[in-house]
Amino acid sequence: MKTILTGIRVNSEPTLGNFLGAMLPMVRLANKYSKDYNVNIFIPDLHSIISEVDGDFQRNLVNSIKYYIAAGLKINENVHVYRQSFVPAHSEMCWILNCVATMGELSRMTQFKDKSQGKDSVNAGIFDYPVLMAADILLYSANYIPVGEDQFQHLELTRNIAMRVNHKYGDIFVVPEKTMDQVKFMGTSEGVRIRDLVNPEKKMSKSALSENSKIMLSDDPKRAAKKIMSATTDSYGKIKFDMFNQPGVSNLLQIEALINDKPLQDVIATWNGETKYGDLKKQVASSVSSFLEDFQENIAAIPDEMVYELFETGEAYANDVADKKLLQLQKAFKLR
Ligand code: ATP
Ligand code: MG
Repeated sequence: MKTILTGIRVNSEPTLGNFLGAMLPMVRLANKYSKDYNVNIFIPDLHSIISEVDGDFQRNLVNSIKYYIAAGLKINENVHVYRQSFVPAHSEMCWILNCVATMGELSRMTQFKDKSQGKDSVNAGIFDYPVLMAADILLYSANYIPVGEDQFQHLELTRNIAMRVNHKYGDIFVVPEKTMDQVKFMGTSEGVRIRDLVNPEKKMSKSALSENSKIMLSDDPKRAAKKIMSATTDSYGKIKFDMFNQPGVSNLLQIEALINDKPLQDVIATWNGETKYGDLKKQVASSVSSFLEDFQENIAAIPDEMVYELFETGEAYANDVADKKLLQLQKAFKLR
């Protein structure tokens, strides 16, 4: 049985970018495929601590599963929900893969460059993050890992690590699909990259310092609408979907399409050539605020116990699968 796998760090609450780029596509895939595929949704709690944790960690962690449920995730026996640190094989496998990955390839990761830029001191976890991610994926023989575009480089690294191990030790790992095929599987023409509302050249990030840059799923809907109204656009004076030259308005068009589950082309056709940016902003602000209102109501109705029950069964499953794969690798390295 094939496996689809996803995880979102809980160093803070998620943004609308995380939701539209990673959570919502995962929910759609899960509901479409979970009859025939394993669907692994895990909390990368170990990944989360590479940066300062903002807010109540355990609350973020439980909520993050609630977000999937509120977004419509249907749970059945093939959907597995677990916390990374409750499956020790992740850290074990990471160490062994550290002895496969090279300093050169890790130094080339743009996320590492971005996150370490201008800092006097950077923790080693930030550098090693992609290796732990490779372990997260390879332990479960995951074929599809629906992530945002910013994670494609890490996925390629995972594929390279898997192929290197297979080449040397025989077929131990399932090599995840190529990024192009991942994107096809997700049903989008390209990876989604929701932009920062203040600096639309950058992607929206939950760790961004400016509150106006990002919409958090817990934002008061009115406040979120204000952030959209004050989003940076451009001085071309004509609405056009052009992420390179007009990333601000293009971002708004993309949010409008994704949040309403409309084809992007339809939204572009509606707005193309219009000159009143304010009208577009009003429309998107209203879509975002009504989405948040409904979503937050759904979240409030989901009890914590439901999430803890999912962890219990999911972690038993995950430990079983992961320990078997780890043992194979340990044997290859003569550790067992
Ligand atoms: P941080 O700033 O802490 O790195 P982040 O917002 O980049 O936070 P991650 O936890 O690194 O979030 O990524 C979680 C998932 O969300 C990944 O699949 C990633 O590709 C996706 N993602 C992150 N930012 C965006 C974005 N702006 N648009 C679409 N998808 C995104
Ligand atoms: Mg990130």
